[in-house]
Amino acid sequence: MPTQVEGASIDFRDGQWIVPDHPIIPFIEGDGTGPDIWRASAKVFNAAVATTSGGKRSVAWREVLAGEKAFNQTGSWLPEETLGVIREHRIAIKGPLTTPVGGGIRSLNVALRQILDLYACIRPVRYFEGVPSPMKDPGKLNIIIFRENIEDVYAGIEYKANSAEAVAVIEFLTRYGAKIREGSAIGVKPMSKFGSQRLVTKAIQHAIKRKLSSVTLVHKGNIMKFTEGAFRDWGYEIAKERFGAQTVTEADAKGKADGKVVMKDRIADSMFQQLLLRPDEYSVVASPNLNGDYLSDAAAAQVGGLGLAPGGNVGDGYAVFEATHGTAPKYAGQDKINPSSVILSGVMMFEEMGWDEVARAIVRGLEGAIASKRVTYDLARQMPGATEVSTTAFADAIIEHLA
Ligand code: NAP
Repeated sequence: MPTQVEGASIDFRDGQWIVPDHPIIPFIEGDGTGPDIWRASAKVFNAAVATTSGGKRSVAWREVLAGEKAFNQTGSWLPEETLGVIREHRIAIKGPLTTPVGGGIRSLNVALRQILDLYACIRPVRYFEGVPSPMKDPGKLNIIIFRENIEDVYAGIEYKANSAEAVAVIEFLTRYGAKIREGSAIGVKPMSKFGSQRLVTKAIQHAIKRKLSSVTLVHKGNIMKFTEGAFRDWGYEIAKERFGAQTVTEADAKGKADGKVVMKDRIADSMFQQLLLRPDEYSVVASPNLNGDYLSDAAAAQVGGLGLAPGGNVGDGYAVFEATHGTAPKYAGQDKINPSSVILSGVMMFEEMGWDEVARAIVRGLEGAIASKRVTYDLARQMPGATEVSTTAFADAIIEHLA
């Protein structure tokens, strides 16, 4: 494993990142097309940092292993050393990883999130001019989804139909008057006030910091009152208690927010309609795990698909940014795949670090590259007049447009 690199660790004190000029950032290259994507992404990141800082800043990238590459080299899908290095340096970025089939860890991504307590899965969804989209007016959607990342179905407990556990749980619940058909499978999803409120807190803090107009709590509280409904109630409660001066409920605002963040809530199914019909009425969305899962991919599809959708998993003092697509193994080693998901995850990472000018430069670069119609195969096949270019050439087109 490549190890020592020149640089200093990022720190986290009193709720703030302390970022040196030459931070060490661990990266997991990813499996399948991961190496192609990482090579292109690192090139863009380094150019953007150098251009915006006049050479004063740089990132010391430190490779850590996970997934298939880790398994082949160390016999472990997620070596302890990888977790130790990410813990030490706090902010990391990763490409897609192969999910081991049968045995071993259920999902490496889930393991990383749970071990580092990365409780907010953050997915910004915005439109890039020129990207093919199924919508008439895709530019109207510009939201950032904060999805709870530890509880709900991610912490779900399931018992197979007719298992001893399922039979025992049914017997126990029947004592409390529940009516459950014999032979049913059982699923339990825990959601806590602590877990819900820290997620909603992150969403509100983001809205305040970025001067965004609203935070919408998306839940299914009409059916599941004590989990989903409680998520909504706990969300409103923390908004009032902790951010009373900076937030106002939709009911109290009556259309006049006076610069405050408007707290709204929507039932999950209605939110899917809202994002299709009135997308510009939403900016920050906070939701429990499963609702956020569905909503993130549906929203990404509205603006042109998962190839361009970034993600970040953020906790208190730890953050791992990642591509949202898989390893696309059939294109591995062909220098063909679209690197935008990892590149935009890097944008999120630089924003989290407070290097906003780097993030803005990369977004400018990507907008410029797409506008010049030199794009990877996935976009080229749907964009009239586009020229298909390799992953590397697409990264070069982004770099040309950074300034
Ligand atoms: P996938 O790797 O996302 O690929 C499915 C298809 O999506 C590709 O064949 C390609 O479509 C398109 N695609 C994905 N990424 C793209 C990109 N960067 N640029 C352009 N097109 C892209 O899904 P999968 O085949 O179901 O999964 C493969 C492996 O990845 C599995 O081991 C799975 O468990 C793992 N996975 C990992 C993550 C993660 O690490 N976050 C997430 C999902 C899946 P076309 O062939 O139509 O061009």
